[in-house]
Amino acid sequence: MNKWVYFFGAGKAEGDSEWKDLLGGKGAGLAEMTKIGLPVPAGFTISTEACDYFYKNNKKFPAELRKQVAANVARLERTTRKKLGDPRNPLLVSVRSGSARSMPGMMETILNLGLNDRSVQGLAAATKNDRFAYDAYRRFVQMYSSVVMELPKEDLEHRLRAMKTRLGVKDDTSVPASGWKELVAEYKAFFQQKTGSAFPDDPIQQLWGAIGAVFGSWMAEKAVTYRRVEKITGLLGTAVNVVQMVFGNTGENSGTGVCFTRDPSSGEKVFYGDYLSNAQGEDVVAGIRTPMPLGEMAKAMPKVYAQLERVRVKLEKHYRDMQDMEFTVEDGTLYMLQTRTGKRTPAAAFRIAVDMANEKLITREEAIQRLKPEDIERLFYPVIDAKIDKRALESRILATGINAVPGAAVGKVVFNAQDAEAWAERGEKVILVRRETSPEDVGGMAVAQGILTATGGKTSHAAVVARGWGKCCIVGAEKLDIDYNSRRISAAGKTVREGDWITLDGGEGTVYTGEMPLVTPQLPKAYNTLMKWADETRRLGVRANADTPQDARKAREFGAEGIGLCRTEHMFFTDFEQPEKSHERQRAIQEMILADTKEARVRALDKLLPFQRRDFIGIFQAMDGLPVTIRLVDPPLHEFVPHERAKQEEVARDLHIDVNVVVRRVAQLHEANPMLGHRGCRLCITYPEILEMQVRAIIEAAIECVKNKVKVIPEIMHPLTLDRKEYWILDQATRRIADDLIKKAGVKLHYLVGTMIELPRAALLADQIAEFAEFFSFGTNDLTQTTMGLSRDDAGKFLPDYVDEKKAGIFAADPFQSLDINGVGMLMRWGIERGRSTRPKLEVGICGEHGGDADSVKFCHRIGMDYVSASPFLLPISRLAAAQAVIEEKLRKKSKRK
Ligand code: PEP
Ligand code: MG
Repeated sequence: MNKWVYFFGAGKAEGDSEWKDLLGGKGAGLAEMTKIGLPVPAGFTISTEACDYFYKNNKKFPAELRKQVAANVARLERTTRKKLGDPRNPLLVSVRSGSARSMPGMMETILNLGLNDRSVQGLAAATKNDRFAYDAYRRFVQMYSSVVMELPKEDLEHRLRAMKTRLGVKDDTSVPASGWKELVAEYKAFFQQKTGSAFPDDPIQQLWGAIGAVFGSWMAEKAVTYRRVEKITGLLGTAVNVVQMVFGNTGENSGTGVCFTRDPSSGEKVFYGDYLSNAQGEDVVAGIRTPMPLGEMAKAMPKVYAQLERVRVKLEKHYRDMQDMEFTVEDGTLYMLQTRTGKRTPAAAFRIAVDMANEKLITREEAIQRLKPEDIERLFYPVIDAKIDKRALESRILATGINAVPGAAVGKVVFNAQDAEAWAERGEKVILVRRETSPEDVGGMAVAQGILTATGGKTSHAAVVARGWGKCCIVGAEKLDIDYNSRRISAAGKTVREGDWITLDGGEGTVYTGEMPLVTPQLPKAYNTLMKWADETRRLGVRANADTPQDARKAREFGAEGIGLCRTEHMFFTDFEQPEKSHERQRAIQEMILADTKEARVRALDKLLPFQRRDFIGIFQAMDGLPVTIRLVDPPLHEFVPHERAKQEEVARDLHIDVNVVVRRVAQLHEANPMLGHRGCRLCITYPEILEMQVRAIIEAAIECVKNKVKVIPEIMHPLTLDRKEYWILDQATRRIADDLIKKAGVKLHYLVGTMIELPRAALLADQIAEFAEFFSFGTNDLTQTTMGLSRDDAGKFLPDYVDEKKAGIFAADPFQSLDINGVGMLMRWGIERGRSTRPKLEVGICGEHGGDADSVKFCHRIGMDYVSASPFLLPISRLAAAQAVIEEKLRKKSKRK
């Protein structure tokens, strides 16, 4: 018989924290906390396998489930010494979702289940609190109606507001028992009218309705959207946790809260959280009331606080990671309702990982494994430029709120998630402004630059979701008067309309009118420590794609150990050191392209030579002592001549030639498929004088550096090679020119000559090419294009369909972003193996965009590359991924030995 249900209670549990896949994160956490002796209310978990069965069998429950639920209800009743539906002292339960990956607020919850007209009297008698009992009852009927029967929330809320108006009260807490009683009757009548049947009184029937609704919420649109945005795939479904209810709203000696074992914004080791006295748990998460900091609880109930502090220490030691916990205090007794790995800002992720390793709670390798590429990306999030005049800034303050997630954001105000998505779709930067957010808003939150809410605390929905994304977020800006109808915010005597610019400072929690300039922040100390650990761990070298001396300097700041790709043609059009010379460069290259004879071409190339030589000197100096891979000209020549008549006339005038010569030459250069045309090393087969000029510029620059005591390691690279003889011709020409220059200069200079591998044929025949080439660099942009037959410039128009799980889901990721390991990867593996079969010491790297993608970098490690090369800003990701690759390899070996 299949087991679908797992019990926990009274210090024992069927399962533990390792069982996340089966019990969901919440169920596994409850089981574990029970086992380690923490105060957890008893309950049981229906497994994610049952949810999987439900969806695979046309939304039917497994046959054995009824029996197993009944047996677990009976066991729960024995453990709690209470009975469901008991008219004297009834057992009430909460029914909550929980999948293996945390999806805060995306799925359903039903509280106070088990109440009916008789058991509510039992609850009132047992708690000696009529008002509380009937409030619990109406909450249950309201939740059940909207969650299980999907009656419109607004219809129910409307009745609640009308009742309060009738009674002349403002706050829920002032509603007497009779008011709640009346409302329950009204809800039930509404239920009957809408559904055609009476509200279910039988607690078991209620329970099955709730279980079905929780399973159903797994496929609700908001949950599906959240999984898509968070790239959560491969889960069985949600578990259902049925847990004895405890109440935080029985009076001033009760309360509820959410807390973190460390500060999730800064990572500092302080106990951190929100607390609401006399409230139920959902009130904190939903952000309906603005809670008080945990410190206040220490004053109000010092004993319980001290106990909670002990739980904090125990849980963090136990899980060896920062925990996010939910608790309730019922009449002075503490209950832990949930623990999970806490979401944190990127800066906090670094600090916590480094601190925990220093505290010896985790190893350095574990610290490295804890970080994700997104954490690095998000570290570089901007802040408002400090140069802005402070007084000018102050005059623009619209409101202040709680600084839920740091970083700054600018955008145009929109008031709902749909608008945010629509505006972002047409390229607008938006800030989503809401009174509070709910899970329905995640799509809009994902595309917004920042999020601003008028209510809620640091653990409200908006804060938790935004923090996970490292997205600037301010909550609880209570002074904001948000009018959805007229689409306006007013505060501090100012009015902001839909479409107006605002700026959020998530670090301070301040909202400004207008569009402020932003700058990239300073990195936290822990970042440098962790990157140092990563560098000590990785085997792969890390180089940068950099074309100018400026880029080269930036690359070193980001940890480059050389240049893996310098695209020489990027300097044909722009003089980065002396911009006023750019025009001269352009004309020289155009003259070369338009020349009719070899002599004329050489004359033009002679003009270009000094420019290139100066560029290379700058780069060699910046990379003093590190290898610099310089690629000879690659794009088709038509890219360098104008296609519009007016510009062609200008060129003709400058070069003193007839405009028709320009027109004719441009027409000659036209190709139907330029990406497969006269480009790459093919240009130097046709025009060896280009090769001659470029090699001369490189070697002369290197010689000058050597003379000036700069250490240079030039690597001359031929692009788009496809054949042994083709490469041999280029290789010989390169060496002849270089050796000649070196000999004449009488200096000692070692250089390498090698090739890019960008075509399947080159990868297939790598053993032949490696007879001459001293190094390979995989140009995976072109290799992806040519292996897959997908144009790198145009495929973006339809590739999203190939990646979209809902549409076709053919690839897990865009192959131009993350390597197609199965196809392109197979050629790379083959190319390296064959290449090293003829030249065992062949140096191999990658310089396509994939060098900055974590998964691709890990693959490059696995196939034995020497280095990866990526744009400077992505280098930290490459360094971290390269270290993680080493650790993962160790773990794989270890598990194989077992
Ligand atoms: C490549 O093709 O991967 C490459 C690095 O060259 P480019 O992007 O310049 O074609
Ligand atoms: Mg290329």
